Amino acid sequence: MYRKNAWEQYSGEERALLGAFADDYRAFLDAAKTEREAAATAEELCRAAGFRNLDALIESGEPLGPGDRVYRKWMNKSFMAFVIGEQSIEKGMNILGAHIDSPRLDVKQNPLFEDEKLAYLDTHYYGGIKKYQWLALPLALHGVIVKKDGDVVPVAIGEHEDDPVLCITDLLPHLAQDQMSKTASKFIDGEALNILIGSAPKADEEKDAVKAAVLAVLERDYGVEEEDFVSAELEAVPAGRARDCGLDRSMILGYGHDDRVCAYPSLRAVMDYDGVPTHTLCAVLTDKEEIGSMGASGMNSHYFENTVAELCALLGFDHDLSVRRALQNSRMLSSDVSAGFDPTYAGVFEKKNAAMLGLGVCFNKYTGSRGKSGASDANAEFMAMVRRVMDDAGVCWQTSELGKVDVGGGGTIAWLCAKYAMSVIDCGVPVLSMHAPWETISKADLWEAYKGYCAFLEV
Ligand code: MN
Ligand code: MN
Repeated sequence: MYRKNAWEQYSGEERALLGAFADDYRAFLDAAKTEREAAATAEELCRAAGFRNLDALIESGEPLGPGDRVYRKWMNKSFMAFVIGEQSIEKGMNILGAHIDSPRLDVKQNPLFEDEKLAYLDTHYYGGIKKYQWLALPLALHGVIVKKDGDVVPVAIGEHEDDPVLCITDLLPHLAQDQMSKTASKFIDGEALNILIGSAPKADEEKDAVKAAVLAVLERDYGVEEEDFVSAELEAVPAGRARDCGLDRSMILGYGHDDRVCAYPSLRAVMDYDGVPTHTLCAVLTDKEEIGSMGASGMNSHYFENTVAELCALLGFDHDLSVRRALQNSRMLSSDVSAGFDPTYAGVFEKKNAAMLGLGVCFNKYTGSRGKSGASDANAEFMAMVRRVMDDAGVCWQTSELGKVDVGGGGTIAWLCAKYAMSVIDCGVPVLSMHAPWETISKADLWEAYKGYCAFLEV
């Protein structure tokens, strides 16, 4: 099957639209380096686009009707936006799903220590990372510290020009003979991922004077003490902004494309919908995908189902059967990034079924690994419908598998939505260097994903 490169089909006008969309996406990436920041940014965008907070309507019991636009943030880490359709919600929704957590280094609950007048934060990595990639690069610290009285102190250090940054040190090559002979997975221990955060001792302090100085800064700037780390969620991420990549500016190098490069266009497609849709539209941006979707803000929890039940109630359905029908009859694009074909590492891909940069939004009929294990294999009937919708809308699209059979694999949130017996297929944007501190995507694929999502909302 021959597929045309998306860039070859663009008019000057479409290139301008694509460029503007990519700029908006870069701004989203910079504002949303964690799931909390992504949920908060999504809320801001939705409020500005006339969406109302569903929790307020649940509280007041104000009924919903066609054309109403509502959102719900769950535990500050997951986010849902809905546009109520003309048809009964029992006929199902058109759902766009993606995740907003990304691989990173989480600060431990008792993290602070000093060794030879250097102070460190101990970390536990989150998601599948190549640990060696996180050494000797500027890190920023994002998250919240929740004090015992419930006060939430937001933290974001390392993003502004005059902010300090943090780092994990690496060994100099001159002394790395032993280290260099290790395999990449043994190159550095997870336990050795300690973030350097200070070196100047506090005056008149006998023991752990550097640590004391760091604590004094935290007290001064954030009003927190060491004990407060216990109820903090602090995430170390690469410091700095997403950038255009390539002399032709055709790509974006950024942290957390997995999976914000799908989450952003999914949200925008629902947000940008003008008027009253036939079916109820939904964007669900979820947390915890990178660690198996467990936890109350992950797709394996009931938060999404509960929210649909609330919608049903406000739409005048008060029977559990309506919720089941609404979910079962839904159609969903479960979006997550695909492994972009990389000529440098061609050996792990099967070229006919690899996601190529620039060929557009990518559909994965199934994911899983070694014999489709764990895959939510979409029905051919649903695949045919998606194919028709994409072609009719002039969307550039492709299909892929995650690498060669038996080489590896991975999972997404699709199977968790398939539990409701809805029609769901994996799709998304190809990424180079997936799960690295800085990942690369093609602006054309981002744009085609957005176009594809908009078209899907009309089915
Ligand atoms: Mn992902
Ligand atoms: Mn991932």
